[in-house]
Amino acid sequence: MSVFSQRDFADHEQVVFVSDDASGLKAIIAIHNSNLGPALGGCRMWPYASEDEAIRDVLRLSRGMTYKSALAGLKLGGGKSVIIGNPRTDKSPALLDAFATALNRLNGRYIAAEDSGTSVADMKYLAERTAHVAGIVDKPTDTGTRSGDPSPATALGTFVGIKAAVKAQLGRDSLEGVRVAVQGVGNVGFDLAQQLHAAGAQLWVTDIHKDNLVRAGSELGATVVAPEAIYGLDVDVFAPCALGAILNDQTIPQLKARIVAGASNNQLAEARHGSELMRRGILYAPDYVINAGGIIDVYYERTGFDRAALLKHVEGIYGTLLEIFERAAKEQRPTGEVADALAEARFKR
Ligand code: NAD
Repeated sequence: MSVFSQRDFADHEQVVFVSDDASGLKAIIAIHNSNLGPALGGCRMWPYASEDEAIRDVLRLSRGMTYKSALAGLKLGGGKSVIIGNPRTDKSPALLDAFATALNRLNGRYIAAEDSGTSVADMKYLAERTAHVAGIVDKPTDTGTRSGDPSPATALGTFVGIKAAVKAQLGRDSLEGVRVAVQGVGNVGFDLAQQLHAAGAQLWVTDIHKDNLVRAGSELGATVVAPEAIYGLDVDVFAPCALGAILNDQTIPQLKARIVAGASNNQLAEARHGSELMRRGILYAPDYVINAGGIIDVYYERTGFDRAALLKHVEGIYGTLLEIFERAAKEQRPTGEVADALAEARFKR
């Protein structure tokens, strides 16, 4: 196994390998950059096929968090952790206790949050043992309270991001009649679809869970399509809200949408696919910019929750994206490259 030679190892400040024989914990905590503040990022639990795969994942994800928080204007660095194991069968109180101890040893340099394979309940359990956890506070909403789940803020950021892309690419201020294909109507995708529907957009949706599709069809009048049919629809916007790496050599040639703007992480299979979208005249909203609502939400939780300030901050994604789109058009560069350069200018200072 090699670590230093991994492509994504570049620039990492600290990578910690944790093991605890008694509980079976095997975890990696990666701190990419803490120039702007403590490294905050999700704790993913996954049955990785190999340790190499786990290292690759944690390094790539922690690096991404640095860029995301910097561009969202947060005083946070980038970090991520992975626990190697099956979240359904290997997670135990003892394993989480050992993970909390590892967090305490880092003394706040890394702050964990919920991610694939971990839940708000897990974070609440950790919070009884360490202060270095986020995404645990119940927050006020228009109709009551919601849990620490940041999905509503992510959906709001994605919604204003789609509006920015529609403004830049189609020259329209309104979403009335705009045709949007949403891939995945789970926590973020369904909330986003609700907002799009309320704004007058026409919706197509897909998912692998039938109950999610039934809900979108009956509540939002969305047209349901098969998962493989979502790419080639004659729509204005393709909004990926399910999986990563869905912009690749197979899918890009199918796209008829002139805009790709959705919440999924790591949408481009490779960086060159950003150039390919540009070449085809498709405007791409860089994933870590448009889906930053969640990290902004978690940040406000730690700085004293002010709902009005949070919503204003998330809505700022509109302006950030417009700036990226304008620069990209002027400099004839892919939007992802422009976003990376803007982020680096902030955290490399
Ligand atoms: P989720 O699991 O609630 O929703 C994902 C949905 O996609 C599910 O309904 C699932 O059935 C569906 N899906 C899975 N495979 C599919 C396929 N092949 N075709 C179509 N649908 C498929 O997850 P979420 O919290 O809504 O997150 C969605 C995406 O946004 C993920 O990529 C996540 O990493 C990213 N994201 C989420 C947040 C957040 O706050 N939740 C923040 C930033 C980024």
